[in-house]
Amino acid sequence: MREVIAFLYRLTILAVLGSVVGCQSIPTDPNESPSQSQIDEGQYTVEREGEEVADNETIDESPSVFLKEDIFEPSSTAVLVNKQHPLSDSYEPDDLVLVEVPTVLESVEIRQLRQVAADSLKEMFDAAEEEGIILLARSGYRSYHTQVQLFNNYVEQHGEEAANRYSARPGESEHQTGLAMDVTSESVAKELTEAFGETEEGLWVKENAHHFGFIIRYPEGKESITGYIYEPWHLRYLGQELATAVYDSGLTYEEFLVEEGIDSEIHQ
Ligand SMILES: [Zn+2]
Repeated sequence: MREVIAFLYRLTILAVLGSVVGCQSIPTDPNESPSQSQIDEGQYTVEREGEEVADNETIDESPSVFLKEDIFEPSSTAVLVNKQHPLSDSYEPDDLVLVEVPTVLESVEIRQLRQVAADSLKEMFDAAEEEGIILLARSGYRSYHTQVQLFNNYVEQHGEEAANRYSARPGESEHQTGLAMDVTSESVAKELTEAFGETEEGLWVKENAHHFGFIIRYPEGKESITGYIYEPWHLRYLGQELATAVYDSGLTYEEFLVEEGIDSEIHQ
């Protein structure tokens, strides 16, 4: 029974997310979106046509912090990338920099992140180190072209079905945004493995990453929603405000966007 419910829930999410494919922007009508100062106050009131909502009738949910961003704009830090919402083969971030934290692999490309994410990653690694937690960065930006090679190698070794669960098809990888970094530690031999989630380092990341704008994008038991197995090492930068809202919700990013009514906001 639980499986049936999970399946129906998944269908609903896919239908909702699927229905907004092709929408290029979220309306920024000031009557529909809270202003920055209102967001900062943690509450806002909504005026409807010919009707004013009382001041004390506030929306106490996290106030749609992502509405000021465009989840279908590739260069937005809030961009939603998954199997239903791939990036184009031509998208490349224009502000990639080398991360200034300890890394595992030699490839210059994957030691890059977008500036804002690289800065936040350094802050997070430094804060962890102050608590005696040593993190290592393993794989950041990947171009569309690199993902083509990676996916094809995986298909050759493990077959296409496995490749689609464990790797990502070109365009469907968050690494192409320059906002995702896979992290690891000496305690798991610098590998990307599920065991990382139970290490001291993995637990620290799980509890603290959102303070620095990152979420664990593929949580345990959510493969039917995210499309990917549990990856305690894959961190996605969303910005501190949005990452904290997603963390507090306990939801995946996909579920969070549905829960927050993003579909009705963009489905005019
Ligand atoms: Zn990753």
